[in-house]
Amino acid sequence: MKYLIFVLLSIFIFSCSKSDADGSISSENNNSNTPETFGDWIPSFTDQTSNFTQTRTGTKGTEETREITVTSSDQVILSLEEEDSDLNEDGDLYDITTQTITTYAASGGLGSFSSSNSVTIKYDLDIEIKNDGFVDIDISTLSSGQILINAEPSSDYKFLGWDGPSILKPTSVNPLILEIDSDKEIKANFLNINNPDYTGIGFYADPVYSQIDPYNLLSYLDAFILDAERHGVDISYVKNYCHNIDLVSFNFPNPPAAQTQVFCVDSQVRVELNKSTWENQIQNIENHPQGFYKDPFIHGFHLIWHELGHDIFRLKHTCNETPNFLNSYDACPDGSNVNLQYTSSMLWFTDDNNPETSEENKGFHRAVSNYYNLINQDEHTFAFQANEYQEAIPCPVPSSIRYTYSSSGWKYGMDVGESSYADDWCTTLERNQNYSQEFIGGKANENKSLDQFDYSSYIVCYDSNY
Ligand SMILES: [Zn+2]
Repeated sequence: MKYLIFVLLSIFIFSCSKSDADGSISSENNNSNTPETFGDWIPSFTDQTSNFTQTRTGTKGTEETREITVTSSDQVILSLEEEDSDLNEDGDLYDITTQTITTYAASGGLGSFSSSNSVTIKYDLDIEIKNDGFVDIDISTLSSGQILINAEPSSDYKFLGWDGPSILKPTSVNPLILEIDSDKEIKANFLNINNPDYTGIGFYADPVYSQIDPYNLLSYLDAFILDAERHGVDISYVKNYCHNIDLVSFNFPNPPAAQTQVFCVDSQVRVELNKSTWENQIQNIENHPQGFYKDPFIHGFHLIWHELGHDIFRLKHTCNETPNFLNSYDACPDGSNVNLQYTSSMLWFTDDNNPETSEENKGFHRAVSNYYNLINQDEHTFAFQANEYQEAIPCPVPSSIRYTYSSSGWKYGMDVGESSYADDWCTTLERNQNYSQEFIGGKANENKSLDQFDYSSYIVCYDSNY
């Protein structure tokens, strides 16, 4: 009987230890017939992030320990944000979210469990939808540091392209491969096909170009100065001297769309726009014979950048290359210039998948960058082709110098030094520019510089798109 009890007790103790939740073998206190019971493991599971040791003590003073291995992994999810739970309250649900899964595993293979903390934003994806369309985001390539974003226009809309603070070069390539190592802010631009409105899109949303008011010609000059500044060229001095962009009624045959007169005088900037052309063909697009541009804003921009390029930067004409604001037929040996022009829809966004509109071939940003890198490329002289009959005069002109040329057996001469230029056409600094020309002193077309020159001596830009 005593033997049997011992056997039964042994079985009980054995099965007790087998059924112990932690599986550890209890020490037997031979002085008691009561099985030892244990309290909770301490410390309890809270939010430990590294391995730790748990202990518990039995009613008979037995102390047990076990090792808890803590592992955690980040589960990255496109977005766990929902309509009513915009986690970062940024107004969109595009954000890439993450959730940390923590696994606690006890030593000896004695079980494990996992817990997850709350969802947090891993990358804030701020995608502005301009007008009407959608975007799909594919994060399957996130581990390689990229995501794919595909734009899909609504019906009656077309997708123009991507821009925004996180887009170095606005592009129409779709889907967009976006390097993602930080928060991103981009804009998907859609345009109504039937009623295109470019407000707030691309060129028109640019912090500098958007300051241009087509009804305030001097605003073009202000933007030009800012544009130069952000390309590393300081021409702020221009505003301290005579400067003007005005509409002029050219009263000679075959007038150009615009001209600049003082390109060799550093202290003056004067662009004269052909009043008739500007009002009838640029501002009134219905009458535009070739329809290169869909709106006067860009057309005027191109023309004025061309002239200011001559005047301020002494850029010369190019045939068919960047800076293509300066393209002109007269720079092409065979006269076959193909002007690279920018239309509203591709002015800002370039498509490197399409050779016709790639950055390489028509990239507006590249053209602008080149433009500001080529300043003073031309040592213009008054005589285009100085020869035995014409005296070449270097730019900028000295304060006093005389220009001579021969024609039909007669020799002509005139003073062309900087001091010979009239300054009575300068805009007043306080001027509120509009179409009415304001001059201090003389009137347009009635100043010394015009009176003393034959037009054949000017660089006259017959920008032949008209
Ligand atoms: Zn020109």
